[in-house]
Amino acid sequence: MRFPWPEPFQCAAVLSFDVDAESAYVFSNPDKAAAQLAGMEERRFGVRTGVARILKLLDSYGLPASFFVPGYTIEHHTETTRTLLHAGHELGAHGNVHEALDTLSPAQEEQVLKDQLAVWQKYLNVRPEGYRSPAWELNVGTPALLKRYGFLYDSSLMGDDIPYDLDTPSGPLMEVPVQWLLDDAPLYRHIYGSSNGIADPDRVIRMWSQEFKGMYAENGCFILEIKGEQEIGYLRQANRLAMQGMERARAMLVKGPATELELAVQLEAEARLAGADGFGYPTLVSCGTKMGAPHSPALLRRVEPGKPLRIAFGPTVEGYTADVVRTFCLGQPPAELVRLQNGFLEAQEAVIRLLRPGMLCPS
Ligand SMILES: [Zn+2]
Repeated sequence: MRFPWPEPFQCAAVLSFDVDAESAYVFSNPDKAAAQLAGMEERRFGVRTGVARILKLLDSYGLPASFFVPGYTIEHHTETTRTLLHAGHELGAHGNVHEALDTLSPAQEEQVLKDQLAVWQKYLNVRPEGYRSPAWELNVGTPALLKRYGFLYDSSLMGDDIPYDLDTPSGPLMEVPVQWLLDDAPLYRHIYGSSNGIADPDRVIRMWSQEFKGMYAENGCFILEIKGEQEIGYLRQANRLAMQGMERARAMLVKGPATELELAVQLEAEARLAGADGFGYPTLVSCGTKMGAPHSPALLRRVEPGKPLRIAFGPTVEGYTADVVRTFCLGQPPAELVRLQNGFLEAQEAVIRLLRPGMLCPS
């Protein structure tokens, strides 16, 4: 394997869309853009008609995608952009007015980045984690700039066909590479009078299918799955509900011994009332030596003093489940349990210290 994809996958694929709208035309031909309706209307087709069709198609297959959106598009087609966000797709940055980075000085480039982030904040209240340069141009200082502004990855370069690191003074920035063959622009973008004809769709499908077969054999990839702000918000909310449940269980145990079933029912009822839309698995409450057995159901058995009690609780919010497990002990815990618990905590803290953005689960 050339890249440690999570088992059992041997390659990854992403569907990504750059929602430029009129932005590139406004940047490169400001006079024409201000005077000529035809050029502007041609570029409005995508946001006005194409995006809805793409969303319908993705929805019919249940596929997530990444959309790279210039600040201009967010400002002028705000509702369409919000639709993408609300449909749960990833949104990445794509310049402010689709600026060609190779025409900008380092100071201008930083200002353009600041301007687009301000637009994201104002219209979407979101901070993008991914960046795709307009026209795939990157200056030597761009990776460091993106890293400084908190981006997790760039997707504009062609140095490999698996993700790789770009060195910056503040640590590596992940590059999720692109390539011309899988871009539809050289195949379909028609400029009147130019020699490139519009491609035959059957030919495009054949090219892309063959490329996929090659990439599959080579463990290739175009992008990594990265959580967006909205998804993290759902996870946080699910986690809050799980922690409130654990606090509730503690309070019930302090009052006196309860049965495993009473604890499970109470936790689930309260999480439901507080906004959980379900549970990732049946709530597990089990006391005594067999408490570690997988999928042990909650029974009418009373929690006994001095015996460990394990609760695994997974409230779900908008499809995102927080999986929280806690061990309680009514009264004095046995020395063996304390020793095990401390060893586990040390291991957990060591892992948390090693965590870095972009790491994969197997590592
Ligand atoms: Zn673009």
